[in-house]
Amino acid sequence: MKSLIISAISSLALLTTSCEQNKSENNKTELNAIFPKGEKGPAENFTGNAWAAPLVDDDSTYNTVIGNVYFEPGARSNWHRHPSGQILIITDGVGYHQLKGQPKQTIKKGDVVKCPPNVEHWHGASPDTGMQQLYILPKTENGIVTWLQKVTDEEYNNR
Ligand code: MN
Repeated sequence: MKSLIISAISSLALLTTSCEQNKSENNKTELNAIFPKGEKGPAENFTGNAWAAPLVDDDSTYNTVIGNVYFEPGARSNWHRHPSGQILIITDGVGYHQLKGQPKQTIKKGDVVKCPPNVEHWHGASPDTGMQQLYILPKTENGIVTWLQKVTDEEYNNR
């Protein structure tokens, strides 16, 4: 009887483990949310589904804007530039970052990326895995963002 109970417990434990594994595979697209998902980014500035949640609003003390963006697989921003640059902190998933005239860079959870002032660039998710990032925009007295043209499929898929 005792051994029957033990074997029942261990098969239950096995069952739980396999459920956890399935869950983490499914999280490839949803990722682990720390902040609210926020609002869907407008179609004129994003391709695919990107969700933005502001965390720190602009004010005259800090002159800094901070927010969270979750890019669903395949989603990316348009080309754009920031007058005082931008810092990205990747909190989950895998994505891309490209500065104009340079090769596309793969970025993933734990990476910190600087976009220099006024340099044209885009960022977004990889085709199969979403990407979650915190963006930090300093010196907002100079402005925040100038949106430009869409990132074409050719640019996105370019190696
Ligand atoms: Mn940017």
